[in-house]
Amino acid sequence: MQEVAELYGFLPNRAGFIQCPFHSGDKHGSLKIYPGAGGWHCFGCGAGGSVIDFVARLFDIGFSNACDKLNADFSLGLTGKIPSRAEKSALLESRRREAARKAAADAEYKRQAARYRYYRDVAENADPQSNLFAEAVKALDPLEYWLDENLGR
Ligand SMILES: [Zn+2]
Repeated sequence: MQEVAELYGFLPNRAGFIQCPFHSGDKHGSLKIYPGAGGWHCFGCGAGGSVIDFVARLFDIGFSNACDKLNADFSLGLTGKIPSRAEKSALLESRRREAARKAAADAEYKRQAARYRYYRDVAENADPQSNLFAEAVKALDPLEYWLDENLGR
C-alpha cells in the first residue's frame, strides 16, 4: 500500500499518514496507511479499504480496472512482473477472506467484551446470595482469559 501511495504521489509521514484525496481540506493528513496488506483508513472522512479500493477511488475507476492499472503501473515501475489472472484473483480472494475473518473476529470480541462488562456489573451490584451473582462470578474468569487471548486478533 505504501509503494502504491508513493507511486501516485503521496508521501506518507513517519506515522504512515498521507493527506486524504477523498475529502477536502485535509491539511494534516488523516489517511493512515497500514503496513503490508493492511490497507488504509481515513480518520477524517471514514473512507478505507484495500490497496485496490484506493486506486479505484483515486482514479474513479471500477475494481477490475483498478487491478489492471496496478498491474500495469507496477510492472513498469517496480516489480517487472505482471501477475497472471489466477495469481491476481487468488490474492484478491485471500484478502477478501482475511477481511471477512477479521470482521467476524472483531464482532465476536465486541460481543464477549459486552458480556464481560455485563457480568462485571452484576458481580459488583447483585445480591451475593443470588443465582445471577453466582453465574457472573463463574463467567468472569474464563471471559477475562478469552478477551486477553483474543485481543487484537
Ligand atoms: Zn478522508
